[in-house]
Amino acid sequence: METFEQIVEREKQYLIQTYARYPRALASGKGVWVFDIEGRKYLDLVGGLGVNALGHAHKRIVKVIREQCVRLIHVSNLYYNEYQGLLAERLCKLSGMERAFFCNSGTEAIEGAIKAARAAGHAVGGEAKNKLFAIEGSFHGRTFGALSLTAQEKYRKDFTPLLEGVQFIKLNDADDLYSKIDDTACAIVIEPIQGEGGIRECTQEFLQEARTVADRHKVALIFDEIQCGLGRTGSMFAYQDSGVTPDIVTIAKPLAAGLPLGAFLAREPFASAIGSGKHGTTFGGGPLACRVALEYLSIIEEEGLLENVRKVGAYLNHELNRTRVDFDVVREVRGRGMIQALELNVPARPFVDAAIQKGLLINATQDVVIRLLPAFLLEEKHVDKAMKVLRKLLANRPVEIAAHSRAGV
Ligand SMILES: *Cc1c(COP(=O)(O)O)cnc(C)c1O
Repeated sequence: METFEQIVEREKQYLIQTYARYPRALASGKGVWVFDIEGRKYLDLVGGLGVNALGHAHKRIVKVIREQCVRLIHVSNLYYNEYQGLLAERLCKLSGMERAFFCNSGTEAIEGAIKAARAAGHAVGGEAKNKLFAIEGSFHGRTFGALSLTAQEKYRKDFTPLLEGVQFIKLNDADDLYSKIDDTACAIVIEPIQGEGGIRECTQEFLQEARTVADRHKVALIFDEIQCGLGRTGSMFAYQDSGVTPDIVTIAKPLAAGLPLGAFLAREPFASAIGSGKHGTTFGGGPLACRVALEYLSIIEEEGLLENVRKVGAYLNHELNRTRVDFDVVREVRGRGMIQALELNVPARPFVDAAIQKGLLINATQDVVIRLLPAFLLEEKHVDKAMKVLRKLLANRPVEIAAHSRAGV
């Protein structure tokens, strides 16, 4: 077996150096636990960045992958398969949307969504109706379209010029919405809870105002639920708690339990705006990924996981709020369900590094935010275990142990 040092050396030589990884190589997992190649055990509150909502090696997911991979993995979209339509139907019924398009990642879901919005815009207002709006602090992905909607300089610099006609609105600032959006707009893209941006929630009023403005100017209201959706807040979609229904929803991360699968779901007139030959993908919506996604949705329902997310999420929130009272270094607690954060008044990275040493995986984003995206099957005893480590770290304030920076996403 290779040593950790050998793995690191090989990557250093042969990988494009886009990632500043934490110093562990992970080899296996079970439920909320993962193990590194040296056999050390970690409580996983990162969940593969919100992907492993069912934890690791869920029995039903393993079984369905085994069954399907010997039947059919891929056929392309030249042909029908047994599962793509079923998954589309299920997601439409859950979301209130009318049609689905399947792709392979979050950023691709965003690309498809803004193409649909542009096409619909052109249909009602000609080519002049093309402007795209997103929110300050947003993260929508790394391809040129999605990157153009991502309002963070660190991701954008070095890659300009990006898409023309993109503007940003201040989070939860309705006046800003009303002053910037007019008939030349074709889409407003919003994360109901900004994930990478540090777990910042849109207010219900802001989402309602966005709906009103979008209706007034025939603009697609697009909710990016790639991180906050598919059960993470304790509802199937985060917007369902606000009472505001978008025109298009993007999803990805947990959808196929770790296999690459994304989608955008749309209502009319946006659902019919891109017709035959106008969009497509080789891999998207294959029988293996779609069957696993159907199983994911069944497990959420049959194991009562939304209820668990609400219950254990509330407990986690209560415990995090206790740290805010007990430790000066904690500035704010944000989020709910299995998407929560502690904002510190010092850099978060040393805490993340020290937590790994103590067998706890957490993630830092926006420099001072500790982000938690645990599996939906997290139990209160796991929260207790994590809090014990976290409280010790908050009391002792670890100093920076690694000089190099670590990627936020
Ligand atoms: C992760 C993420 C994306 C990008 O998804 P990828 O699968 O990494 O391309 C887009 N939007 C949000 C809100 C995300 O959290």
